[in-house]
Amino acid sequence: MDIRDRSGLGKVLDGGFDAVIHFAGRKAVGESVTDPLGYWDTNVAGSLVLLQEMSRTGITTLVFSSSCTVYGNTAEAPFAEDLPTAPINPYGETKLAVEQMLAALAAAQPHWRLASLRYFNPVGAHPSGEIGEDPHGIPDNLMPYITQVAVGRRPQLQVFGNDYDTPDGTGVRDYIHVVDLARGHVAALAYLAEHPGHSIHNLGTGRGYSVLEVIGAFERASGRRIPYAMAPRREGDAAAAWADTRRAQAALGWKAKRDINAMCRDAWNWQRRNPNGFGNEPW
Ligand code: UDP
Repeated sequence: MDIRDRSGLGKVLDGGFDAVIHFAGRKAVGESVTDPLGYWDTNVAGSLVLLQEMSRTGITTLVFSSSCTVYGNTAEAPFAEDLPTAPINPYGETKLAVEQMLAALAAAQPHWRLASLRYFNPVGAHPSGEIGEDPHGIPDNLMPYITQVAVGRRPQLQVFGNDYDTPDGTGVRDYIHVVDLARGHVAALAYLAEHPGHSIHNLGTGRGYSVLEVIGAFERASGRRIPYAMAPRREGDAAAAWADTRRAQAALGWKAKRDINAMCRDAWNWQRRNPNGFGNEPW
């Protein structure tokens, strides 16, 4: 169902829950630039409906999917949670707006237990190969693009920029395995059981990889060659972003365990077993 459907969501929450993990949001930066109202509607107004219905039903524990996009381009990596926020697109603005809503709510009503988890670059798949990433249309993100090239759905990858101030000139990101990300949510729920209020935690590995390093790791993990061509920089891209993970380690007792090789292996395992994704659309 749609998170903006108040009566439907209210009926679900009336079922009785201890906590909510809120993943329901739109997440394509480019689309947020062309459809800002759609992003504010789903991401911000949808979160407002959720919080109001949680309040009505007496559920006061929430883990929210936020994003490292809230840091913007002003600071140098690694990004720590207490840096000033400066999102540079509507997607990041909506994530920050929800964080601000949570902070204000916790300040006004201190019994709420709220965590904003700032994801870096989640990739990979469940190791079973049954749950993976199946974007609609042309993938915006690097890893699903690579896996679709590997499986023959797309002829080649475009590398957006090789003139950044990074070791090989391509963009550097902190990729995190989705299973580690999921474990981070379990750790956040345990933390909230002991800590009312609103808290913010980065979920990343603390290590950056360039686009060319990801391609190399994927080729080794899959045994497939990934043809690529250099292309101009993508608008709005930062040169390098990775997490300062100290707070998550200290507060949540959580640390990412899976490396880039596991991320590539599991992403490939899912795509190989599901060349058409979940089969919901022709390609
Ligand atoms: N990237 C690329 N080709 C693509 C998609 C992404 O070279 O087809 C680069 C992008 O410029 C960035 C990195 O891969 O340096 C990660 O991009 P992605 O869109 O996956 O995540 P973002 O960091 O933008 O959220």
